[in-house]
Amino acid sequence: MKEALWWESLGDDKVKCVLCPNACVIVPGKPGVCKVRENRGGRLYSLNYGQVASICLDPIEKKPLFHFHPGALVLSVGTYGCSFQCAFCQNWRISQVKPTCTELTPEQVISICASQQRRYPSTIGMAYTYNEPTVWYEFVRECAELAGAEGFVNVLVTNGYIQPEPLDELIPLIDAMNIDAKAWDEGFYRRVIRGKADPVRRTVEQAADAGVWVEVAYLVIPGENDADEHIDSLATWLSRINPAIPLHLSRYFPAYKYDKPPTPIPTLERLRGIAGEKLHYVYIGNAWKKGYADTICPQCGTVLLERGALELERASLSQQACPGCLRPADITGKVWI
Ligand code: SF4
Repeated sequence: MKEALWWESLGDDKVKCVLCPNACVIVPGKPGVCKVRENRGGRLYSLNYGQVASICLDPIEKKPLFHFHPGALVLSVGTYGCSFQCAFCQNWRISQVKPTCTELTPEQVISICASQQRRYPSTIGMAYTYNEPTVWYEFVRECAELAGAEGFVNVLVTNGYIQPEPLDELIPLIDAMNIDAKAWDEGFYRRVIRGKADPVRRTVEQAADAGVWVEVAYLVIPGENDADEHIDSLATWLSRINPAIPLHLSRYFPAYKYDKPPTPIPTLERLRGIAGEKLHYVYIGNAWKKGYADTICPQCGTVLLERGALELERASLSQQACPGCLRPADITGKVWI
């Protein structure tokens, strides 16, 4: 446990957390919506500081990040807690309940990353993932500072639900982000997620403006957020920021409080076609079919990067450009293969 950043005293021992747009007003002895930031005696504390629920070396493709150091490995670390309460959460065992954790310091985490790099040279750095990393703000920031000083990259896999000021302080430490856009529709955010869509879009814009490499994930839930016009609006908005922002349309499976059947494959293919009219790179994830995760040159159709379920299998690039038409492949960093 550590005293939290980003809170204000409201008097009478009440505090307001200003880390995320939930803006929880918290009385002594109670946590905020995320269940990991608690008022103790009129001060706000991070309960999950140093509490590691999961730590594992992953292909960067698993985040998913397809255009940032393709084929590299990242040390993925996560804790528990989330600022959203998605009824369909695919990770609810760590987002909504407290799992068994190991206590680690930021120094220990970065030392594990360094030892993994000695063993696997394609380990390029850290990914803060599994649960929502912004509700672990203090620990992520300290790890990211140490990682950056050691020459490691920092990747954030996030729901994007953070206020602009704390994000502004974190962004200089972050190299790439996968941001989860849960829906285009504000009503879906309010009804199913208990949040708002606008702050998430603001995070995408803020990160892209700051020069962070951004990819966007979108879990397609049948009958909930799969309307053609919503995907068209999402893709149009993203294309105005940068049409090279990759969009990952992910297949939903029943989890937590949702028992709807998995997303039909034709729905994913239809939505990929709609988004692909505005964006250069649209992928289908959580559905393992050859070609769904390949990077195709948007100018001449050459397959640039071939992927299996979660890993890079083959690269056909000429100095980060298409070998067919020489169009740049919109890739940041080295291709590790
Ligand atoms: S980070 Fe947690 S406590 Fe703070 S406003 Fe968001 S949900 Fe509430």
